[in-house]
Amino acid sequence: MKELEERIRKDGRVLGKDVLKVDSFLNHQVDPMLMERMGEEFYNHFKDAGINKILTVESSGIAPAVMTGLKFQVPVVFARKHKSVTLTDDLYTSEVYSFTKKTSNHISIDKRFLSKDDTVLIIDDFLANGQAVNGLDTIIEDAGATLAGIGIVIEKSFQKGRQLIDKSGTPIYSLARIKAFENGQVVFQDEEE
Ligand code: 5GP
Repeated sequence: MKELEERIRKDGRVLGKDVLKVDSFLNHQVDPMLMERMGEEFYNHFKDAGINKILTVESSGIAPAVMTGLKFQVPVVFARKHKSVTLTDDLYTSEVYSFTKKTSNHISIDKRFLSKDDTVLIIDDFLANGQAVNGLDTIIEDAGATLAGIGIVIEKSFQKGRQLIDKSGTPIYSLARIKAFENGQVVFQDEEE
């Protein structure tokens, strides 16, 4: 998505060797017009996949997920992050190691909001090592639901997540694919291919 790539170039800041800060339009302040066009992109890509539910993780996945749900006209469920390990029977849970916070969280979804009748599209803001997607996938399996696809706003293709998902065979569509950070600059995948 050209518009997103241009926005990343203009407003993104590379931190260290593998983190991109985009808090002016995605992770803190949100640009709803851009989110709407992202939702449209995801819809156009996955519209024939029979999707009846969108799943994401709080908090930065929610904005793009809601816009996607609006285009599909289906509900959006976001997994909650729990500090407590006290589980109840009414929740699906899994453990996710956070790439940015360097800690493990339990994420959970109320059993009322996911079932075997659901065909799910996962939406998330970033793909790094694939932990968040993997945690959601575990919950989808536990619920007996079907994972139809994964939509990512910004993929860092040089980390492990992309490979893991490709291996699993689940269709994935990323709106921006970052091949590398070079001297603090973003290099997109399609620039050299
Ligand atoms: P993963 O689970 O794929 O290792 O990491 C994905 C999650 O970590 C995303 O949901 C996102 O919140 C966070 N994340 C990973 N890489 C970045 C990054 O470069 N910048 C920001 N802002 N968040 C990231």
